[in-house]
Amino acid sequence: MGQDFPVDPIAVYFHNPFCLSLCPYCSFYRVPWTRDAQKEYYELLLKELELWEKHIGRRVEARTIYFGGGTPSLLESRWISDLCQRLGLEGKSPDVEVTLEINPIQVTESFLQGLSGTPVNRISLGVQSLNDEALGYLGRRHKGSQVAGAIRLLRDYGFDNVSVDLMYGIPLMDMADLQRDLEEMLAVEPEHISCYLLTLDEDSTLYAEIERGDSPPLPDSEECRKQYELIIQTLRDAGYHHYEISNFARSGYESKHNLSYWQMLPYLALGASASGWLPPLFYTNPNDLTEYKEQIQRGELMPDAEELDGAAQIETALMMGLRLLKGIDSQVFERRFGGWLTEERQAKIQALQRMGMIKWQEGWLCLSDEALFVSNSVIGELL
Ligand code: SF4
Repeated sequence: MGQDFPVDPIAVYFHNPFCLSLCPYCSFYRVPWTRDAQKEYYELLLKELELWEKHIGRRVEARTIYFGGGTPSLLESRWISDLCQRLGLEGKSPDVEVTLEINPIQVTESFLQGLSGTPVNRISLGVQSLNDEALGYLGRRHKGSQVAGAIRLLRDYGFDNVSVDLMYGIPLMDMADLQRDLEEMLAVEPEHISCYLLTLDEDSTLYAEIERGDSPPLPDSEECRKQYELIIQTLRDAGYHHYEISNFARSGYESKHNLSYWQMLPYLALGASASGWLPPLFYTNPNDLTEYKEQIQRGELMPDAEELDGAAQIETALMMGLRLLKGIDSQVFERRFGGWLTEERQAKIQALQRMGMIKWQEGWLCLSDEALFVSNSVIGELL
């Protein structure tokens, strides 16, 4: 019996690293798709799930399931159903949120015919922008005009929980362009909107292009802050609940799966480069398909698992929990991580309070609106 396995149901993440084309801004672990490699990888995911079953001596029961990537919509529908079935889900369930990330170009009648028969009940659509110039800059394959049709088609096939990813801080887009993106997005009424700042790792293709002067540079921080404030204002005015630094939802449509990450609840992660948290163990599968395959063939789980001590757990829980706008509940935190509010940390909180960056609200510690754009450095002060 796996002593390190928490009581389920648990959040389960499947990573699919394949992509049809490799976007120049992306630094995730991803590889070009081929039919054979994808099928072999699906079999490895099944095998990894079987290893978990053997490890804990019974079937894993899922609270939420998330298919992310890469491009997880390259998994065939029957494989998605099979993986969900192994986690106890025979069909769609109102109690288990099952999310699939999809590229807008993949939203076709034939794809949705297959998908509508699976347990997937939440779609995360990688829109990024509705502006064709910006999409070209990002190397995305869809056009802005395809997005509204894709969402309508998803509705026709019964998907009533649709999230869209948008990006800001994209060169070639000014405030007016961003405002237009937001208005067009609001017109199709997604249940959930995630807005991420375009950032580039130094190993990305786009970073090298900008360095060479072949692509326009990213806007400065002040411009990005203004864009972020415009997003917050526009989406809050439209009635969306701003519940996490980058996430907005219609009431009741907050991402249950991602809340597990922010609340540092246990989650199981399967697939190459996927990271899981089974307290006190944090693990990451190899960032390489061959190494991942060898790991699974050896029957190994959680390679390089790291045991987080009490202090590391508190720091991670603060980093994740303060991303939520309601913040962290001091009493719950004390029960989970006794002794987190040391004298030194109290002094740091008071200093940030005086700067207007953090506040106490009925026993909850949370960031102020002013701190949201610079959240990493504000939270960093508390660690
Ligand atoms: S951004 Fe998404 S679709 Fe593009 S290469 Fe990265 S993982 Fe693949």
